[in-house]
Amino acid sequence: MSLLLTGIGLLATQDPELGEIVDAALVIEDARIGWLGRAGQAPAADTAVDLGGRCVLPGFVDSHAHLVFAGDRAAEFAARMTGRPYTAGGIRSTVAATRAASDERLRLNLARLAAELRAAGVTTFECKSGYGLDVETEQRSVRIAAEQTPEVTFLGAHVVPAGIERADYLDLVCGPMLAACAEHARWVDVFCERGAFDVSESRAVLQAGIAAGLRPRIHANQLTAGGAVALAVELDAASADHCTHLSPADIDALAGSDTVATLLPLVEFSTRSPYPDARGLLDAGATVALATDCNPGSGFSTSMPLAIALAVREMRMTPAEAVYAATAGGAKALRRTDIGRLTVGMRADLIALDAPGYLHLAYRPGVPLVARMWQAGQEVALGLSPTQ
Ligand SMILES: [Zn+2]
Repeated sequence: MSLLLTGIGLLATQDPELGEIVDAALVIEDARIGWLGRAGQAPAADTAVDLGGRCVLPGFVDSHAHLVFAGDRAAEFAARMTGRPYTAGGIRSTVAATRAASDERLRLNLARLAAELRAAGVTTFECKSGYGLDVETEQRSVRIAAEQTPEVTFLGAHVVPAGIERADYLDLVCGPMLAACAEHARWVDVFCERGAFDVSESRAVLQAGIAAGLRPRIHANQLTAGGAVALAVELDAASADHCTHLSPADIDALAGSDTVATLLPLVEFSTRSPYPDARGLLDAGATVALATDCNPGSGFSTSMPLAIALAVREMRMTPAEAVYAATAGGAKALRRTDIGRLTVGMRADLIALDAPGYLHLAYRPGVPLVARMWQAGQEVALGLSPTQ
């Protein structure tokens, strides 16, 4: 089956050679893009849809999200808005609720957040464990996440939970917990931060994950400028995430590596923190991704469009840079070559905005502009199910 999308006012391919095409059309053949170009040159197809001048982009790639958990931390947010700072320790309150939740409850919570992501234009998302912190609940978390996405990350090393010695917990993470989780995950992650895990502990966790067949990614330099970015580059991590506090050497290291700097401005927004130096990274030549970091503690938003708006308004990224970071940048942060750009042969993951251009993602912050979505060539309904 082939489907011709025509009446595309602006096709922002995110491909460096194709660039942006005005008055465009695109043909989906089964799950892939079969053709794209000027509307006047479009080939015939089995069916056609006129998009009425809308802007078409690749679907957003949210390369950093924590979506398997129970409970919420609204009270912690309220306290933070009155001046209490964010610390890594709040994670433990979500751990208690997650351990107590049934598989079905965790599955319903994840499905709800996945529906929110879709409604916000996300066609691929990564999902971490990290609110179980015991073998059974971490294994449940990655198994349930794998029902919704292939991009599952084992984050047993989120914090040291209550009731266990630090060295014993690290042995557990690198031993039985990793063994129970590895078959359901593609990635291993660690929260390398004051109050969580130091650089040598983080190196041990990631190396254990690599030995088990997983690929590394790191929560790096969120609260302090430690050695996490250097560790990410040392281990060829797919991405160093947060990068809120970077030294000039960190920026140079990222620019000279294949490690993507994944920026999470919804967290800075929700924790009232300074934003990362996106301009410094981009001007040095680093690849930047934008992601939601949706989680119940430091930023409970599934809105990639709002992340784009913040990147433009607060981090001085251009709208084109922000959209690239939310699509092709996210794909690079997941080491995916089949998504994040619109070129012939790529998976047909794309969105149509109720706007003539992508500038409106920043120009109209908070407004739901994603009108239609195709995922692997199939149109996807964007409605949310009732809150469960
Ligand atoms: Zn995170």
